[in-house]
Amino acid sequence: MSDSTDRQDMGPDALLAALDTLGIPAAITTEDGGIIGLGRTWREFAALDETAGGMAWDRLVPASHLDALRAWLTRMPCEGEAPALECPLAHASGAMRWHQLGKRLVASGEAVRWLCYATDIGALKRRETRLNDEASLQAKMLDVSVDCIKLIAPDGCLLHINKAGCLALGVSAEESVGKRWSSLLPEEIRASAEASLADAMAGRTSRFPGRSVSDAMGEQFWDNLLTPVLDEDGGTRSVLCVSREVTAEHRAVQTLRENEERLAMAAKVGGLGIWDYDIAGDRLHCDASWYRIMGRDPSDTIQTIAEFRPLIHPEDVDRATDVGRTASDLLAEDLDYSITFRVVRPNGDIRWVRSLAYLEQKEGRAVRAVGFVADITDAWRGELALRDANRALEEEKTSLARKVLEDPLTGISNRRHLDSELARVWVHANETAQPLSVGMIDVDRFKQFNDRYGHLAGDAALKRIAKALQGVARRTDLVARYGGEEFAFVLAGTADPTVTMDRFLDAVAGLAIPHEDSPTGRLSISGGVVVSLSVTESPKHLIQASDEALYEAKLGGRDRFVVRVLPGP
Ligand code: GH3
Ligand code: MG
Ligand code: MG
Repeated sequence: MSDSTDRQDMGPDALLAALDTLGIPAAITTEDGGIIGLGRTWREFAALDETAGGMAWDRLVPASHLDALRAWLTRMPCEGEAPALECPLAHASGAMRWHQLGKRLVASGEAVRWLCYATDIGALKRRETRLNDEASLQAKMLDVSVDCIKLIAPDGCLLHINKAGCLALGVSAEESVGKRWSSLLPEEIRASAEASLADAMAGRTSRFPGRSVSDAMGEQFWDNLLTPVLDEDGGTRSVLCVSREVTAEHRAVQTLRENEERLAMAAKVGGLGIWDYDIAGDRLHCDASWYRIMGRDPSDTIQTIAEFRPLIHPEDVDRATDVGRTASDLLAEDLDYSITFRVVRPNGDIRWVRSLAYLEQKEGRAVRAVGFVADITDAWRGELALRDANRALEEEKTSLARKVLEDPLTGISNRRHLDSELARVWVHANETAQPLSVGMIDVDRFKQFNDRYGHLAGDAALKRIAKALQGVARRTDLVARYGGEEFAFVLAGTADPTVTMDRFLDAVAGLAIPHEDSPTGRLSISGGVVVSLSVTESPKHLIQASDEALYEAKLGGRDRFVVRVLPGP
């Protein structure tokens, strides 16, 4: 209504008559806003009878809009100023209906008159309210998000920022909307933010990492994603920036990197080689130290188990390369991988290496092994030598223990063994009231044998006799060389030793060792045995008594035995 100041002078009556012909609510007003007349449409709209002045605005508009209306009515419009006023009008039904009021100067000079008219904008107002409601709902939804969401205009100024965004940047929505977005960001990331925005403005999605420090949240890391919002023509209407907090992820990555660095450093200091094997894909990756330990040139890469096999000693190769199977066995026992094997260097040197690995599993299967390899040749050689020495020592100890109880000439038990066994058996027999037989055996006319055949032949004869006696003894009997050409025996649990004694005599006779100075023409033995049915006599006494029985056998003509049964208690 740029022509609202044009003059259209008419007489007052003609004006009022014209009002009634208008199809929209209209009124004639004075310079100070008073109503001279109201058109028929308005009167009908508001259900008013009056046709003339004296009418008050407070019957036509709500009290809340009176001041604004009066100010508008009395203002002389100047160029460029919007002449319309949005104002609700009272309807016959009692409800208020939104109208847009316009005014036009119709008389001037002595009496300034305005034609004031109203256009129904109810539908427009309802649409506006709905849009406002929708916008505020969207803003509320954005405020719920933990991500920082910003809408940036093509000129780089902020159109909208949600609650999380305000919190992260330490600003309020009121103070930041309309400001340049990058100016709200920490100094150090402004350049990358501007570059990213330029990318998004050119229609490409872009992202950049950010970092912020605030009193409330401390240090935080952000992943900023900028997406262009396109209009129908494909031009960028605005840019949506979603900033997600990735502090935890950032720290995890940093820790991982630090750990990897420490691991590599530890490996370097420890002279360890590192290897990484993708079990399923059969892909081996090794560092320079690994190649050094293997005595190989790192440029001659080894990437599969098949390529690794020729480096390993033939005896260890299967064991060392069966990583997959070994790994599953270990996983079953929840152990890490550890194996020691030999490698053969190109110059023929054989080195012992130990490989330790951590197994990574997926669905219960080992899929990857990452480990160290160390050259342990020197330590291993020392360990092997130590193991040999230990084994020799152990053998020595057992043989010494055996020798203590063994007769050196004949190899059967000696007197020491017999004494200790007799003591043990005697205690048991006493406790259980079991019978026990103890005897002595002496080779007949042995002095003469030595004299005739020599001492060495004597020794050989003693050995054969010892073997023969032991050969016929039961497993539970003990036969020992007691000293010189005398033997002793203990028959545990035996009440009648005659069967055993007969076997002893026969065994020696069976040897048929010639002895020309003996009436039998061969070497013979004599024996004396005591049988104790329920033992009370001491072991020493039992030996003594058997010695006496032996003496009797000698007296009786030799090549025989005498049994003496001790009286019971
Ligand atoms: P008797 O029938 O009365 O037992 O007569 P004997 O000659 O066997 O008895 P004596 O006790 O007079 O002699 C035992 C001999 O046994 C004396 C010794 O030279 C011989 N003798 C003892 N120990 C050994 C030994 O280890 N080796 C050899 N070759 N002879 C031994
Ligand atoms: Mg003797
Ligand atoms: Mg003798």
